[in-house]
Amino acid sequence: MDCLFCKIISGDIPSSKVYEDDMCLAFKDINPQTPVHILVIPKAHIASADGVNAENSKYVARIFEVIPQIAAEQGLVGGYRIISNCGEDACQSVKHLHFHIMGGRKLPENMG
Ligand code: AMP
Ligand code: ZN
Repeated sequence: MDCLFCKIISGDIPSSKVYEDDMCLAFKDINPQTPVHILVIPKAHIASADGVNAENSKYVARIFEVIPQIAAEQGLVGGYRIISNCGEDACQSVKHLHFHIMGGRKLPENMG
């Protein structure tokens, strides 16, 4: 499958890893929008939030279990934002489910 994030999981494309376990991988966004900008992805190809179901939701659960640990390791003591863009209107550019962890400064209230 021609999926950028599947290639990052397999190691075919390098990434700046900050966390990894058997179900998920976290790495630095190549084009950071905030001082800390991490992507967390499931180690299964799920195209977007629309593709989450009863069989694969355990990946999402694991991701949300590890996000606080990643945020703490990244020094996000003041808080952080979790974003998952889903589909065209949200400008999802990589069609493998991912959660942006963004922080390191005060973020704007306006989300869209
Ligand atoms: P989205 O627009 O929500 O689909 O987010 C995709 C994100 O992936 C963007 O923030 C990109 O900067 C990021 N990205 C694209 N290619 C890479 C890569 N090779 N390594 C790390 N991040 C990437
Ligand atoms: Zn994929």
